[in-house]
This record gives sequence, structure tokens and C-alpha cells, in this order.
Amino acid sequence: MPSPFPSFQSVLERIAAEIEATPGRGRPADYIPVLAEADPRRFGMAVADLDGTVYGVGEWQQPFSTQSITKVFTLALDLSLEGDVLWEHVGREPSGNPFNSLVQLEHEHGIPRNPFINAGALVVTDRLQTLTGDAAGVLRDFLRTESGNPDLGFDMTVADSESAHGDRNAALAHFMASYGNIRNPVPVLLDQYFRQCSIEASCADLARAAGFLARHGTRADGSYLLTRSQAKQVNAVMLTCGTYDAAGDFAYRVGLPGKSGVGGGIIAVVPGRCTLCVWSPGLDERGNSVAGVAALDRFTTLTGLSVF
Ligand code: GLU
Repeated sequence: MPSPFPSFQSVLERIAAEIEATPGRGRPADYIPVLAEADPRRFGMAVADLDGTVYGVGEWQQPFSTQSITKVFTLALDLSLEGDVLWEHVGREPSGNPFNSLVQLEHEHGIPRNPFINAGALVVTDRLQTLTGDAAGVLRDFLRTESGNPDLGFDMTVADSESAHGDRNAALAHFMASYGNIRNPVPVLLDQYFRQCSIEASCADLARAAGFLARHGTRADGSYLLTRSQAKQVNAVMLTCGTYDAAGDFAYRVGLPGKSGVGGGIIAVVPGRCTLCVWSPGLDERGNSVAGVAALDRFTTLTGLSVF
């Protein structure tokens, strides 16, 4: 007789106990000064079922800085509005370079490798800005609706801190503008991008908001954000490019589409089954949450839920 499937809550509690007993949690990101203050031992994790029921453990309701996790949502919003035209302006191959690298862009004529490195995310936000007139506001409103949390919003202290130390992102944007791949004035784009990255949300909020990726493109209210094929595409790009220069190792250990951010959060998708979000601010040398990757690794091992 096969053993009964363990409940999400019991799996989460077991993972939290294991993580608690593990020494060594990495270091918080320090290139955005306000993020450097985070305590690496903090930990929260949530799983959202297809119907939006959320199970959580630790600090699963604590808002944190979502950072690059937002790149999944801007990609989905842009694809829902302009479809495949986007792929003429950004690629979908792993970059093999750090997330904020300038080197590849010159060889590839200002077309970024994928939408999850900073250059690619800037292109996506620029295009969403042209299509909507307020990319960050549209993103925030989408996240509020899908998470059911009307209080979710920007943390302007983080946005201002990032803006004050944003020379690298400014360089990327200007460089792509020189190739004609940015349509808005660079200061407008950077303001939108830094506010996008500053959005604060909890594991519960993000697990729920990402639900459309597990429901093959269907939003919480039953309407379609993406076609089934587009939802597959976003999940595929998350699997191959979503965890900086460690996507191969993440696929090997976790076996799910995932997207991390330098705030220490990671979202992951089990298509047709559930979405997950884990947060712990200590990062490894490639920018992924140490406890976050470990927790997702344990989740797929304990449940057998994986795309492989
Ligand atoms: N706002 C950060 C940046 O652009 C996002 C980095 C990240 O989370 O990967 O540098």
C-alpha cells in the first residue's frame, strides 16, 4: 500500500524544524544598504493550494522585500498584453553571467539574454510602462488582487536606497537605450523599476499571487491572465533562468520552476498542484537564499512533488 500523502502543514512544520537546527544561513545582500540589516536566521514558508488555501510556518505572514521575484509578474503581465512581440526584445536563454552583468549586452546588440537578469527585467518593465503608463502601479494592483491583500505596496525607503546606489542599473538601461531597446526616458524607467523591486509582500501573499502559474494561466477569479501555453513558457523560463547563475543546481536540487530575489525570497511552482514561497534573508554567493533553497529541496523530497 502506498503511504498516504503527507499534509502540507505537517511537511512545512517538519521543514521548519530541520532548518532551525541547521547552522550557517549565508549573508544578506549588502549592495542595497537597507537590505543589509536583515537577520539571516529569519525564516518563513507558505504553500498555496489551487483554490488559494494557504498553509504556512514560521514568519509566513511577515512582509519582506520581494526584489527580483517581481520580475515573474511583470513578465506575465507584459506577455498578457503584447504576446510574442516581447521575445523580439528579450531572449530566453540562461545567461551564465551575474544578474547585473553588462558584458554580454554588447556582444548581443542590446538584447538581454532573458527577462530575469536585470537588463531583461528593465526591458520588460519599459515595455509594460509603454503599454500601461504605470508599470509599477499595475504590478502592485495585480499583486493586491491576486493575493487578496489590499495593504501590499512599495517600500519607498528601499526604492530610494536602491536609487541612490543604482549606477549599475542606470548603466544597463542607458546602454540598451543606445541600441534602441528602451523606449521611455531612462529616469522614468529606473523609477518604475526601483519601485517594482521595493514591493513588500509576505510568503502567503506571493504564494497566492503566483497561483495563476500553477493554474495554467487562470487568475484567482477564474479569468485568464495567460494562455496555457504562455503559462508553460513563464514556468520554463523560471526553471532555466530564475535563480541567477545557479539555475542548474536549483533544478537539480529542487526540480521546480522558481524565482529568487536578493531580499531572500523564492517562489516556486508545482504546475497543476500548488505554489510555494519561502523567505530567509541570508544569501549564498550566487544570490539565492541558503535556507530557502534548502527548504524547497526538502519540500520536493518529502512530498515527491516536482516537474521531473
Ligand atoms: N532591485 C535589485 C537590483 O536591480 C533586484 C536584484 C535581485 O533581486 O535580483 O539590483
